[in-house]
Amino acid sequence: MPWDQLAEKPDRRRLRGGMLPWLIVPLVAGLALMAYLSPLGPAPSRAAAAPINAVATVGMVGDVVAEIGGACVNVTTLMGPGIDPHTYRASARDLRAMQGADIIFYAGLTLEGQLADVLDRLAARRPTVAVSEAAVPPARLMEANDDRFGMDPHVWMDVSLWALIADVVRDTLAQLAPECEAQLDQRAAAYKLQLAALHQWVKESIASLPAHRRVLVTAHDAFFYYGRAYGLEVHGIQGISTDAEAGLADIRATADLVIQRQVPAIFVESSVNPRNIEAVQAAVRARGGAVEIGGELYSDALGQPGTWRGTYIGMLVHNTATIVEALGGQVPPLPAALADWAARWQVPLPVAAPGEDG
Ligand code: ZN
Repeated sequence: MPWDQLAEKPDRRRLRGGMLPWLIVPLVAGLALMAYLSPLGPAPSRAAAAPINAVATVGMVGDVVAEIGGACVNVTTLMGPGIDPHTYRASARDLRAMQGADIIFYAGLTLEGQLADVLDRLAARRPTVAVSEAAVPPARLMEANDDRFGMDPHVWMDVSLWALIADVVRDTLAQLAPECEAQLDQRAAAYKLQLAALHQWVKESIASLPAHRRVLVTAHDAFFYYGRAYGLEVHGIQGISTDAEAGLADIRATADLVIQRQVPAIFVESSVNPRNIEAVQAAVRARGGAVEIGGELYSDALGQPGTWRGTYIGMLVHNTATIVEALGGQVPPLPAALADWAARWQVPLPVAAPGEDG
């Protein structure tokens, strides 16, 4: 909702605590009520004052905060393209940004491995929210296949789960800026509609692959939620975190799988060194097989800011289109619910006409 409309809405707090409620009560008609209140002036708007100063650790979190916050929030994201959150250490600049923030959003569930201690210490002095932990019911989390980690943190790979953080972000921002509540409600609702359409589109896209081709081999174990939600068997060379080296045995086992299952393509990740995937490709070739590098996926970091791949929606669209194309399927046009997103970011993919969404 635009700010001018927001300012015209009657302020509930003022109505409740107003000086002359007995005068107001008979004026049931909304227009008369607003005309009466207007001489008092509109509630101070956050856009006119300072926006909420929010810090997010990873792009997947920062983008959702920016989408829902709109003009009510300024978002600083600590980790840019190609940055691996599992091994990331905070710089002096990051610490200053976090110390000066009104609110710090992070994913949680051990994603920000090295940053966890810093975030714990900051939590005593600044509001911090681990969005995955706050939003996703434990029953819908997946256990990590590594004893050092409780739950797999790569929750954003299932769009229906990441959509759950929208309400947490909205509620948190509304507490900090109650005057923004109507706008935050509207923006969160609109964003959730986009994510619901995206979830369906990813599902249909993966379903275009022949059943025997639904095998996804990537650099590390970031895609289990994606596989569970959309029907792919997933294999990462490295485990849930990238902080341990993959051994020769991991490379050999992955090459065996590629040969046995006749996997046509495997994938590098933008935030992980490509050498392990390249080693698998070399091992397959050494045995007379062939496998392509199907492209680069965004697992734990978004693409370049200011481009469509630098948005959370773009991350899922890019990954899905890359996987489906390399494994022999075909993505349908983007849903009409994403037409505004596609136009805003000049996405070079067809979009369905309104009413054509399946
Ligand atoms: Zn990861």
